[in-house]
Amino acid sequence: MSTSFTFNKTIIGMKELIIFAQKQLNNKGLNAGSADGLIGSKTIAALSKVSGIEITWEPERKIIAFIQLLCKENSIETGVVDGLLGPKTQDAYEKLVHLTETGKIPEPWRNDTENAVVSLPEKTIFPLQNYKDLVAFYGEVGTNQTKIQLPYPNYLSWELSKKISSFSCHEKVHDSLFRVLTRVLEHYGQEEISRLKLDVWGGCLSVRQMRGGTDYSMHSWGIAIDYDPVNNQLKWNKEKASFAKPDYNEWWKIWEDEGWVSLGRAKNYDWMHVQAARLK
Ligand SMILES: [Zn+2]
Repeated sequence: MSTSFTFNKTIIGMKELIIFAQKQLNNKGLNAGSADGLIGSKTIAALSKVSGIEITWEPERKIIAFIQLLCKENSIETGVVDGLLGPKTQDAYEKLVHLTETGKIPEPWRNDTENAVVSLPEKTIFPLQNYKDLVAFYGEVGTNQTKIQLPYPNYLSWELSKKISSFSCHEKVHDSLFRVLTRVLEHYGQEEISRLKLDVWGGCLSVRQMRGGTDYSMHSWGIAIDYDPVNNQLKWNKEKASFAKPDYNEWWKIWEDEGWVSLGRAKNYDWMHVQAARLK
């Protein structure tokens, strides 16, 4: 799953997007080279001829931006052309593929009685925070890890100039985590995410014992993530921690909707930390 974006039941691989974009660039006479799913110099040169794509963006972001521009060109709603693969863009991409294959845009969803099957994301009930339940559900510490491709870039809290586009997490929390972050992007937008430091990443997988204890930390399974630890230090309470402020209510609601637990909200310490395990 390292190069796939997952949302609900849809899985769109980056390679698929690149091949699609290369074919469309070639259709426009822009000479992207063979549609091989690899972003080589010809593809980059072709993308640079398309107006509306920022030259400073990473190649993969340019590909997504080009697809968003194609959607716009065909009157398919995709939101702002930002090169980020949120659910709106994924949905628009599928319509665009349908259009190029059949010449028609699929009918909008109708919620009538015949078609009243609502597809909700499959929500996981996370296990209780005790070793036995955790191992039964997730396996041994440090196992069953996968990479999550982030819907927006994160920055290492200990080296803020270092941007990351993915990190390791447990495969059983991957889809839920991706839905959370996608909703965060939809709700706050890139600018607010930066302002609120929701993209300052303090770590996920780390096999270690809890501070001052003998039990394994939830990070040992790759099911806990820390954000902005500088402004949300372990022993700080809601008077001091930035994540306790009202601006973050929706951030926490999005996590809690998916069953994640904020130690800050539940216990008023370690406000940096969110985990996919329920408290006893
Ligand atoms: Zn933590």
